[in-house]
Amino acid sequence: MYKNLYLRRGKEESLKRFHPWIFSGAVHHIDGDPEEGEVVRVLTSEGDFVAVGHWQIGSIAVRVLAFEDITINAAFWKSRIAAAYEVRRSMGVADSPNNNTYRLIHGEGDHLPGLVVDVYGKTAVMQAHSVGMHVDREAIAGALQEVLKGNVENVYYKSETTLPFKAALGQENGFIRGGETDNVAVENGLKFYIDWLKGQKTGFFVDQRDNRSLLEQYAAGRSVLNMFCYTGGFSVYAMRGGARLVHSVDSSAKAVDLVNRNMALNFPEDKRHRAFAEDAFKYLDEMGDQYDLIILDPPAFAKHKEALRNALKGYTRLNAKAFEKIKPGGILFTFSCSQVVTKDNFRTAVFTAAALSKRRVRILHQLHQPADHPINIYHPEGEYLKGLVLYVE
Ligand code: SAH
Repeated sequence: MYKNLYLRRGKEESLKRFHPWIFSGAVHHIDGDPEEGEVVRVLTSEGDFVAVGHWQIGSIAVRVLAFEDITINAAFWKSRIAAAYEVRRSMGVADSPNNNTYRLIHGEGDHLPGLVVDVYGKTAVMQAHSVGMHVDREAIAGALQEVLKGNVENVYYKSETTLPFKAALGQENGFIRGGETDNVAVENGLKFYIDWLKGQKTGFFVDQRDNRSLLEQYAAGRSVLNMFCYTGGFSVYAMRGGARLVHSVDSSAKAVDLVNRNMALNFPEDKRHRAFAEDAFKYLDEMGDQYDLIILDPPAFAKHKEALRNALKGYTRLNAKAFEKIKPGGILFTFSCSQVVTKDNFRTAVFTAAALSKRRVRILHQLHQPADHPINIYHPEGEYLKGLVLYVE
């Protein structure tokens, strides 16, 4: 049986509203001495059952797996993963000949806090953000294999950088099911090399799929600048949308290699595209006014609340440069993936940038993360990606 963790008096309030985190300050004591990553039963100070979840040392002490008094076993993992898969099938992103790139498990959004799984064709890339998910990785991989039978054959485990260092788990990246495989995935009919071995996150930014499709609709005849291009997702869609030219920029030379490879996969020998390894601010300062479609999709400027003020200044500075240079009648796709920056914060930062440029600016679309990155209604912190599509006169 699981060890019992007792909360301080009254600290079950947020759990009654099904919030899946228990902070260390809410914990009174634990009966016994659990190992990090062990499943514990959470009880009120009066001894009433509240939840079961993964325990670990750190500011989030427990990540709740269930609000019922159940055992976390193979059947549990299978049912949660099957439910997530069913939703992806109904939204049309899984098992489609046109698309085999999607997020299967989005942590709290799929009632599995601490776990991320992205599917790329026949390979699922699994990432643990909590010690508990690391400890249970074998059971999870087994459940993935069962649920995705016939579609996914390999599970690549990639948690070297997402687990707490102090836990000293000796985690290594590598296949835990299957092995070496074709690493070209299909997103909306376009092909992408996925570098799950060395790439950022699980190898690709699956979360921009819908926003890339929207960009495709605006690309015809335009001169496109894809700033912070990484694997060049937006660039490839712009090409298919009939852009006049597409320039991809990223400070990382590896990213520039990736975008060039992806372009060659989809549009070999097409002279409309060029990629540059350059710092964003330098490029924006030195470029001319040739672009009438600009994408700004920077890395998170703020990773925690203390960094918020500076992050907002950063977004303003960056967007101001685009407003200054974009051609009249231009379209700006601008994003923030910082979780601590709210929709309103971001909109204010972009508003400030627009006002500095004195241009007439209209909001055409308000963008967000796609349906395969669902937000658990009891965990609003799961909302992170926001974007605006602006028409600049
Ligand atoms: N738009 C991409 C994801 C962007 S991730 C997509 O759809 O897949 C952010 C990228 O910004 C990374 O590739 C990183 O190398 C790049 N980057 C970070 N700082 C930068 C800077 N100062 N100038 C240019 N690129 C930068």
